[in-house]
Amino acid sequence: MSQADYPPLIDSFGRVHSDLRISVTDRCNIRCFYCMPAGAVRFKPRRELLSFEEIERFVGVVARMGVRKLRLTGGEPLVRQNLPRLVALLAQLPGIDDIAMTTNGMLLPEHAESLRASGLRRLNISLDTLDPDRFQQISRREGLEQVLAGIAAAQQVGFEKIKLNAVAIRGLTEPDVAPLGRFARERGLELRFIEYMPLDADGTWQNEQVLSGEEIIEMLQSEFGPLEPITPDDRSQPATDYRFVDGGGTVGFINPVTQPFCANCNRLRLTAEGQVRNCLFSTVEWDARALLRGGGSDEQLADLVRSCVWAKKAGHGINSDEFTKPQRAMFQIGG
Ligand code: SAM
Ligand code: SF4
Repeated sequence: MSQADYPPLIDSFGRVHSDLRISVTDRCNIRCFYCMPAGAVRFKPRRELLSFEEIERFVGVVARMGVRKLRLTGGEPLVRQNLPRLVALLAQLPGIDDIAMTTNGMLLPEHAESLRASGLRRLNISLDTLDPDRFQQISRREGLEQVLAGIAAAQQVGFEKIKLNAVAIRGLTEPDVAPLGRFARERGLELRFIEYMPLDADGTWQNEQVLSGEEIIEMLQSEFGPLEPITPDDRSQPATDYRFVDGGGTVGFINPVTQPFCANCNRLRLTAEGQVRNCLFSTVEWDARALLRGGGSDEQLADLVRSCVWAKKAGHGINSDEFTKPQRAMFQIGG
């Protein structure tokens, strides 16, 4: 078989899908308020999660339809046992040329080395604040020291181009903007601010809480001097990148609320229990697990994914009156 022997994954607006986000678990070791509920969380029983071999088979099929980039996420991907084994399984699949992970970083001190050895190329580590009290307020747990140790471990084992993700929330993030900027500049890390999206489990998101990328650019400029935009190499990348004119590195802005990038979206998602989604904000899912566990053929799996992609809407519609928040929260989808 050649690497792309099935037709490409094109939706009804002509967007070609080549990027798959795989959630490996809905569990997490912290409880960020913009993602998880405040109270007890009902996680999926382990038997409902796809096995590594089921994920491998699914990825093998979508790679034949032109998927080239993978990102492992969750929940917290590193709470899933033996994750480097999954990375190694996926890294050897024909057609897959990039595997990345988004993590809260807390378990990186133990796992950074084996992840690097298994074929993981890139890491995004979430860091919203450098203040221990605000970390506790956001994540409802302690752990800032572990995250910082995780960042250091990732740098030490040689991960290049580590990105730091900070969710930007009005009334909360403002005092963290300059310290995070300084931290990233000093360590050669690429900081990225992500606008707060209506995917919190408690359903308290309000449009007024979205601290826009534009506002953060102003804050960074008043601290570090001018920023200039960088022309993107890849039109489908969600971040708008800037460089500090003084040579202090780059900073990115993911502005899904104030500047939706749906028109160039090339992403598809697989939840931890094997449901395929064409958007973070999708209210419909396609059940790949039923085929994987019910004797379905590769062709049937390919047809399922094709139907899912074909049904993708033009945009998420967060700013429209008809917007319906998905029933699942971020930790159940995979950010
Ligand atoms: N646990 C890992 C972590 O936190 O990096 C991976 C999963 S997490 C759901 C993926 C990313 O989504 C994180 O960078 C997190 O900050 C971001 N995120 C979670 N909820 C969000 C929300 N409501 N709006 C914007 N970003 C969010
Ligand atoms: Fe866990 Fe990541 Fe959600 Fe925070 S954002 S609760 S670290 S899954």
